[in-house]
Amino acid sequence: MSAYWCELAWLGGEPAEPGVLVETEGERIKSVESGVASPPPGAERLAGLTLPGFANAHSHAFQRALRGRAQERGGGSFWDWRERMYVLAGRIDPDNYLALARACFAEMALAGITTVGEFHYLHHRPDGGRYEDPNALGLAVIAAARDAGIRITLLDACYLDGGVGEPLAAGQRRFGDGDAAAWAERVEAMAEGPDHRVGAAIHSLRAVDPGAAGTVASWAAAGGRPLHAHLSEQPAENEAVLAAYGRTPAAVLADAGALAADFTAVHATHLTDDDVTLLGGAAACCCLCPTTERDLGDGIGAARRLADAGCPLAIGSDSQAVIDPFEEARALEPDQRLATGERGIHSAAELLAAATADGHRCLGWGDAGRIEAGMRADLVTVALAGPRLAGTAPEHALESVVYAAAPPDVSTVVSGGREIVSGGAHVSIDVGAELDAAIAALEGGSG
Ligand SMILES: [Zn+2]
Repeated sequence: MSAYWCELAWLGGEPAEPGVLVETEGERIKSVESGVASPPPGAERLAGLTLPGFANAHSHAFQRALRGRAQERGGGSFWDWRERMYVLAGRIDPDNYLALARACFAEMALAGITTVGEFHYLHHRPDGGRYEDPNALGLAVIAAARDAGIRITLLDACYLDGGVGEPLAAGQRRFGDGDAAAWAERVEAMAEGPDHRVGAAIHSLRAVDPGAAGTVASWAAAGGRPLHAHLSEQPAENEAVLAAYGRTPAAVLADAGALAADFTAVHATHLTDDDVTLLGGAAACCCLCPTTERDLGDGIGAARRLADAGCPLAIGSDSQAVIDPFEEARALEPDQRLATGERGIHSAAELLAAATADGHRCLGWGDAGRIEAGMRADLVTVALAGPRLAGTAPEHALESVVYAAAPPDVSTVVSGGREIVSGGAHVSIDVGAELDAAIAALEGGSG
């Protein structure tokens, strides 16, 4: 058993509570006691504000190698970025992916992320041929999360078409399983474990037709698996789907049986009022990825309208333009301020809930994301003594952290009862050095 005394801790309400003793046993929280004036003997003192672990609900780990390299000099669009991404994707193999994803997930750990939802569509050899184990790349990603000390939900994505009604292009061949039944058969072979789940994803309606989307949705529902899909990220996607099927992507997914409480729409940027009603009526989660959406020029999602309609919100680092859950959570608010001219649209506690409990739930971890007896023992301590947060008033600590904290302020991370970040450093991985080496190896063009 371990004991942690938190100077301040967020237990779900507002404001944060002073003097909280958290006892853990194995991977779970055993007890939580507020109003404990000083650390009892044997308890580790956590100075600052302690939060539940963050859930990064939408990640493509390999895209970490694009950071800074995919900023266009002289114009460009989402579609130009995608071409660069395909070149990188073509160089990934199970060994170099393990190295890159392990370092990327360790960077996430340093930022307080204890669970990642890896939206995985790199399945096969670059020419579409199978590896000896057809899940070699997915298994490498799962091993990478284990090395970094975080939990993972591998959201294995069905990706069949190169665009609506188009065959896969050369750069997309390794994403495809041929048809949805073959996708399901491959995914079915991947076992789950205590710290990893296997969920399903419909890459998008650009890549999966309505019939195949229905097959994926049925497979997910039958197994009680989370189901995610990129939805209405770009206007061109909406136009292509409307032209082909006469309905918006959200309506097509609803008809395919995908919209339910274990469904997560990723981005959900360009929605009609009816789309918002459909998603809210299903209590579908909406995962916004504001730093990527900004980076790619996608647009500003309707976070408040979706929440009011009944959608829990989550956040994701998506393209890894940055890995900063504070910025993702905070951006939900200032982006809305820019779009609406109003302030105070989401409370700090609502933004933190998106980054913690609601994010975990959409990845199938309903027992994580809150500091509460019986939950997984994930604790993220944000030091308040550094230059960004010095002067924080305890009664405004949530707002200070949501609106001003950054990953270097994270001092300690406990993930499933194990300390994986201590003194601001990962306990077993030299994150900068491993990222350098992994990205340099890919630049060499190993495939
Ligand atoms: Zn994505």
